[in-house]
Amino acid sequence: MNTYGNQRISLAHGSGGKLTHDLIKDCFLARFKNPILSELTDSAILNLKGINLAFTTDSYVIRPLFFPGGDIGKLAVYGTVNDLAVVGAKPLYISCGYLIEEGFNSVSLDEITQSIGDAARNAGVLVVTGDTKVVEHGKGDGIFINTSGIGVCYYQLLQDIEVGDKVLINGPIGDHEIAIISARGELGLDVKIESDCAPLADLISHVLTASGKIKFMRDPTRGGLATTLNEIVTSKDLGILIEEKAIPIREEVRAVCSLLGFDPLYLANEGKVVIIVGCEDASLVVDTMCAHSLGRDAQVIGEVVESPKGRVCLRTEIGGTRIVDMPVGTLLPRIC
Ligand code: MG
Repeated sequence: MNTYGNQRISLAHGSGGKLTHDLIKDCFLARFKNPILSELTDSAILNLKGINLAFTTDSYVIRPLFFPGGDIGKLAVYGTVNDLAVVGAKPLYISCGYLIEEGFNSVSLDEITQSIGDAARNAGVLVVTGDTKVVEHGKGDGIFINTSGIGVCYYQLLQDIEVGDKVLINGPIGDHEIAIISARGELGLDVKIESDCAPLADLISHVLTASGKIKFMRDPTRGGLATTLNEIVTSKDLGILIEEKAIPIREEVRAVCSLLGFDPLYLANEGKVVIIVGCEDASLVVDTMCAHSLGRDAQVIGEVVESPKGRVCLRTEIGGTRIVDMPVGTLLPRIC
């Protein structure tokens, strides 16, 4: 029996956390079984006539459609571009599929489309194919967007993560999810936080040019830093130890988290990349990121350790250690 067999799909199955992973493993991987998919990287790596291409797809269902720092269109372009960039590819082409609810405002549609065009130009990709579907009023929620993307791999990440490797991030965590919570207005919060939504390909190309010791990269979106770090060590013969005091978090985000009881490690980001690098290149990579506008607050936040195996641990500011698990549920649905 699989772990979702007798249940109905819940919002948590789309959270990026444990239930999403169970669904992927027990339903999708089981049926689509092939060595490329099984890698579970942000983009599939396809070898076509000797050239390595990266190929990825993502759907965007965010509410509200417009939020401080972005909108669903910008998010749809940058999210897909970032999934190509983190596997060492230069993003080139994207598709754009619209699922529109009958009655949706054409001014908003135009604004979102303009935003997709601007974001694509900014990220150096072309929208080369697309699709439009309209569903009856009440059968959608305004608009959903799917983007797929293709890029050429110019860098092959080293696969041998080992004890002593450093864990890096390019800036403060949690901005995107707190911006969305605030924009929804449901919790009576009025914080001046913008989503960090940004294209990471240029920053990443600087990093990959500077260092030949990059072993792994992932953008910690749904499920946040905690989920990404757990994905790195799950079923591996090593663990990760992160230092609470080294993790960059804005004061405003920290304040909302303590007010609402959220753990910032689980908050979604849309312009962050987690990098595992050989320890000898860690400060070089931090310096390289700090010199880029999207990496000003880059930090070493932890390292790969021998034990506990398969686990992520956090050393707290007061010196204790706790396990950081993969999230089971979701703080907030529809954040990307
Ligand atoms: Mg990703």
